[in-house]
Amino acid sequence: MLIVLDAKASIASVKQIQSFLKDHGIESQAHSDLYSQTIVAPNASKKFTISELESFEDVVRAVPITSPYKYASIQGVNAPTVIDIGSIKIGDGSLCIVGGPCAVESKEQLFNIARYVAESGVKLFRAGAYKPRTSPYAFQGLGLEGLALLEKVKKEFSLNIVTECLDNMTFDEVEEVADLIQIGARNMQNFSLLKRAGRSTKPILLKRGNSASLNEWLLAAEYILSEGNSRVILCERGIRTWSDHSRNTLDLSVIPAARKLTHLPIFVDPSHAVGRRDSVLPCARGAVAIGADGLLIETHCQPEQALSDGSQALLQSDFIDLVDQCREIHKLLQGKTTLHLGF
Ligand code: PEP
Ligand code: MN
Repeated sequence: MLIVLDAKASIASVKQIQSFLKDHGIESQAHSDLYSQTIVAPNASKKFTISELESFEDVVRAVPITSPYKYASIQGVNAPTVIDIGSIKIGDGSLCIVGGPCAVESKEQLFNIARYVAESGVKLFRAGAYKPRTSPYAFQGLGLEGLALLEKVKKEFSLNIVTECLDNMTFDEVEEVADLIQIGARNMQNFSLLKRAGRSTKPILLKRGNSASLNEWLLAAEYILSEGNSRVILCERGIRTWSDHSRNTLDLSVIPAARKLTHLPIFVDPSHAVGRRDSVLPCARGAVAIGADGLLIETHCQPEQALSDGSQALLQSDFIDLVDQCREIHKLLQGKTTLHLGF
């Protein structure tokens, strides 16, 4: 249920309704902006009628949210979610590029890459300390040692860190270092991990599972939001199809479709979608043109030596070229790739 209050309703009044709901076992979250105050209470309609909720002082109306996800839906929150990470804003119409290697391999590798990523003006650096690999015999990441190296990168290059968390067991240690925690495609429906992410103080980058529908993806986001963490970024990274020319199939059409349903920012990861270096730039250009809020790009100083995903890693010069081209396209289209929800 969406409970709409008078824009001038006091905080005490909003709190009173929320504690009334809580006393009846109903969780809720309040939102406010210049023009409105609202409470989203997913299960309120199971206990109360519309007129019972509308009888509260300051309540203008109560409207059922018909969408299966309540906090992720524009029916609940009708303004784009803007997420601050350091000095960066995500979801405000700007373009946020995240760059880095697939995995943390060594201090030398990490620093070499971080240096040119920082010089390109990119502010978010991504590398995995824990890697979800298809084969148990493949490189699994440096773990704690990798996190310590990411901490060093953060200090040395003033970059914000994006890194993946694979399980609840390692969540606390990842959370300590990461400025943005990635939940990977394979874990999109790891519900206990999603719930833990929902209790995190850090924003979450939620990749789309490689066979997930848009509905399933948004319900996975709802697990995080419903635990109280409103800072969720969705990331399209390709889905499994019959194509045999690329690792996955980049589903750019999901972005305008998602904009009709959710206020959450949406990133695109062309690297994991295509799995091959030569296709990353054209797909990144397409992602920016279609209105993505950000890009996730893998790059490596020596891709042929990379311990994971070398074939999709851009060389330094190609990475810098991609950043320049994507910024140009974004500038050209600014204001045209609409931020209006439900367009
Ligand atoms: C990664 O980001 O390196 C990764 C393994 O991604 P995905 O979860 O999209 O496969
Ligand atoms: Mn990778």
